[in-house]
Amino acid sequence: MDEDNEQKIDAAGVKLPIYMDNQATTPLDPRVLEAMMPWLTTKFGNAASRNHSFGWEAERAVDAAREQVAHLIGATAKEIVFTSGATESDNLAIKGIAEMYRERGHHIVTQATEHKAVLDTCKRLERRGCRVTFLPVKADGIVDLDDVRRAIDDKTILVSIMAANNEIGVLQPIREIGQICHERGVLFHTDAVQAVGKVPFHVIDDFVDLASISAHKIYGPKGVGALYVRRRNPRVQLAAEIDGGGHERGMRSGTLNVPGIVGLGKACELAGENLLQEASRTQCLRDRLKAKLEAGLDYVQVNGSMEHRLSGNLNMSFLYVEGESLLMGIDDVAVSSGSACTSATLEPSYVLKALGLGDEVAHSSIRFGLGRFTTEAEVDYVAAKTIQVVRRLRELSPLYEMVKDGVDLSRMEWDKAGTRD
Ligand SMILES: *Cc1c(COP(=O)(O)O)cnc(C)c1O
Repeated sequence: MDEDNEQKIDAAGVKLPIYMDNQATTPLDPRVLEAMMPWLTTKFGNAASRNHSFGWEAERAVDAAREQVAHLIGATAKEIVFTSGATESDNLAIKGIAEMYRERGHHIVTQATEHKAVLDTCKRLERRGCRVTFLPVKADGIVDLDDVRRAIDDKTILVSIMAANNEIGVLQPIREIGQICHERGVLFHTDAVQAVGKVPFHVIDDFVDLASISAHKIYGPKGVGALYVRRRNPRVQLAAEIDGGGHERGMRSGTLNVPGIVGLGKACELAGENLLQEASRTQCLRDRLKAKLEAGLDYVQVNGSMEHRLSGNLNMSFLYVEGESLLMGIDDVAVSSGSACTSATLEPSYVLKALGLGDEVAHSSIRFGLGRFTTEAEVDYVAAKTIQVVRRLRELSPLYEMVKDGVDLSRMEWDKAGTRD
């Protein structure tokens, strides 16, 4: 590849590789690391040790972090349960409610573009005898509120719908959904991992009963998260998934990850301090990236609502180009493609398919995830590089040539057109 070009741009102040995958994980904020350091070194006490100062100071640190997390989402400290991350929080919320409320009902409502931590948990509960409704989404990625209303019946105990999607950044109307649930006496869980710290999120105003949070999506450490569990109007009860010493009010046993929890608390404090400024800064950068890509390339489309979207997310399909080839072409930029990299078979993303996208369009998509440390120079580099690589790949694409020549590909059968196996 064009190494001279890279060095020139590098000299202009862009360090390579560029990280633009902030929905997968975020770098640790140095201020978070600083807050964690004592708890990784000299202050190593067990927060459950009641007999000495090592334990007491650890417990105080955990309590302070509990306040920080609660403050960010409008909760009280007692409503925060620390976990190993949002996957565990989602499991604890959904399985814990299904078990605790099984006398009342066995029906759960969720939707198609949830994270696997929600979808696969619901599927397991289905095998254990629960009934689960997986609602579709509209072409913009948003659930239809009437579908939510219609799905709730007298056996429904829980609605679980995410606040913001991790692939397309689409924001669901959680306040309206929460209101519907409260009117119907059904509990509302939201996987708020991508929303917390990025958009205003308030458990009272949004009628949320349970909310999952992860530290590593908000510039905190990996392996720690929280579940908000409402204690008033209504008081939510939860069966534990992990039994043992009775930590976290019996809802989640296990010695607390004190440094991780301190990091999560600090990450929440920082996110809350600058939420709106940071959101508008990333939105400017994201819109700059979008404008440049749209100016430099034809046949591109944004996937998911642009209006109801995380400021740091741009999910775009570059038609007549394969996402995987594009990823390889822009190998000094860390982004994700619309092919589920978790599977060896390169299945197109189930989220994009839920929007009604064909396999080809889903495969041609890239998720750009901008964040706190993304710079304008990085955006300009990524835009230029993407445009260059897409143009080069399209020069090799017979389909693109045909489209340019006015052939209507929608009248052709894709699989026989020979671009994919
Ligand atoms: C990352 C993510 C999770 C999983 O969180 P972990 O802390 O990595 O287990 C769950 N839901 C969403 C929407 C996510 O983006």
